Amino acid sequence: MNRDDLGGCHEVFQRTIAEKVTCTGIGLHSGAPVELSLHPARAGTGIVFERIDGAYPIEIPARPELVASTRYATTVGRGQGTICTVEHLLAACYGLGIDNLRVEVNGPEVPVMDGSAASFVYLIRQAGIFEQEAPRRVLRVREPIEVRDGAKRIRVEPARGLTISYTVDFAHGAIGRQSVHDLALVNGTFEAEVSRARTFGFLHEVEALWRAGLARGGSLENTVVLDQAGVMNPEGLRWPDEFVRHKVLDLMGDLALLGMPLEGTISVERGGHALHHELVNALAQRAVAWSVIEGDTRRLREPGLRAPAPVSA
Ligand code: ZN
Repeated sequence: MNRDDLGGCHEVFQRTIAEKVTCTGIGLHSGAPVELSLHPARAGTGIVFERIDGAYPIEIPARPELVASTRYATTVGRGQGTICTVEHLLAACYGLGIDNLRVEVNGPEVPVMDGSAASFVYLIRQAGIFEQEAPRRVLRVREPIEVRDGAKRIRVEPARGLTISYTVDFAHGAIGRQSVHDLALVNGTFEAEVSRARTFGFLHEVEALWRAGLARGGSLENTVVLDQAGVMNPEGLRWPDEFVRHKVLDLMGDLALLGMPLEGTISVERGGHALHHELVNALAQRAVAWSVIEGDTRRLREPGLRAPAPVSA
């Protein structure tokens, strides 16, 4: 196998960040300040969250079996420790090819920042990306898997690299039916086309959440809010189809729970976190449907070729 055999996943080596970085924001649900710090992690560790605000730290690896809830956001948990709204940070990790990371959080949720993955991309770029000694592993889909739930549908088919097609269909005039077709997640596509798309909600839903004591940190600073007249945010949208782009962002964050990059073509109709996780679980449970491909590092170890070092990619 050579570098080309890895298809769209061009990194042959696992990656982490070069140094610790920290940011502070508010939790979407609590409305309370929360500090997030990202730390380099050893090869083979995966992405591991850690609640550090209790009597002792609680480690929660980003794995499908530790998903505690998919209502409004993705929550991971272990025992008494849960961390909510992990998907936008995980999407940034997936999009930048970060395999190993320790994520310390001093509260019950990852800060919402601007409702997209842009702040996390910036943070990881600030830290620098570090190529590690170990070969990267990729989950290559071998046979199609489809999950349906009424008009909702998600399907993955064998392919090289990750390609996503996504359609949303909302009765609201500002959204309507929006699609992205065959978006190949290579060469900075995630950063340029997806990472800045913000989460969105409808005013009547947001008000219902507030009455239920949820989304207390939600505001026009971190959510695109729609009322009957249209988009309430004074600055408007970042793209006319920002809504479906955010759905792609959410999907990438949920796919990150597989623990390695996916090679396959995914198509989604009217999806959301619950449907994304049905696919992740179906994949996790059907090992015959995929195989793990390991990056062949020998060719890159030849004299004159670049050794693992901090990379600015
Ligand atoms: Zn989201």
